[in-house]
Amino acid sequence: MNETRAHVEELLRTLKLRAVLAMYEETTEKAARNNLQYEEYLVALLEEEVKRREEASIKAKVSKAKFPFIKTMEEFDFSFQPGLSEKKVINLASLQFIDKKENIIFLGPPGVGKTHLSVGLGVKACMARYRVLFTSAQKLIEELVIASKDGSLMEKLLFYSRLNLLIVDELGYMPVTREQANLLFQLISIRYERGSTILTSNYVFDEWGRIFDDHVVASAIIDRLVHHAHIFPINGSSWRIKDKLKRGAA
Ligand code: ADP
Ligand code: MG
Repeated sequence: MNETRAHVEELLRTLKLRAVLAMYEETTEKAARNNLQYEEYLVALLEEEVKRREEASIKAKVSKAKFPFIKTMEEFDFSFQPGLSEKKVINLASLQFIDKKENIIFLGPPGVGKTHLSVGLGVKACMARYRVLFTSAQKLIEELVIASKDGSLMEKLLFYSRLNLLIVDELGYMPVTREQANLLFQLISIRYERGSTILTSNYVFDEWGRIFDDHVVASAIIDRLVHHAHIFPINGSSWRIKDKLKRGAA
């Protein structure tokens, strides 16, 4: 390696231009072969760096969002859920609902793809650099209860209020006491018209009385959630059962 090259690489390391460092040798040779102008050569190198940083930033957002698994909107087979409007769901992927601070509610039995679609939209939001967090209703409630006991509730609520998109999965798997419902209400209130929430539940609204001990708080929560919401009841069959049936037939 000649002295100039060694020096350049040292400078790139100091500046943490990792993509330029990785591509430097190859790009320099290519530039010489193709008689690239100085500026064209510089653009080629800098574009690599920008691309790498964008990819790293998306990766960091996805990791911070704590998705339980990664699934994309493109992987969702709409023909399996004919009752669900593909057009309306795909329209959500434009993420206008986040700019408008609207909510999305997926309702339906297990296995119909509620979590899949929530994750798919969440991943899209990460790619658009929004602050996203995925959590389950159970985990969220537990966290709020702990925070209310140790005096950090306001801090916790502020943390949640700063998210562009909060995904609350599986409301209804556990009953919600009056104290828990009050905390949930505070969370929904602080996010109201401030950020988007995606909520999934195995119960339709009429049945929420079975989730919440306190019906007054339950309707207050529903009221705020649905005020600016896209609501999707998904009533088709479970994808998991489909897979089982196929395996059974084979
Ligand atoms: P739910 O949250 O409604 O219980 P999930 O979203 O967890 O269901 O879906 C269960 C599994 O089936 C996941 O692996 C998901 O990716 C897959 N799945 C569900 N519906 C579809 C679909 N229409 N197309 C492709 N995969 C699907
Ligand atoms: Mg689910």
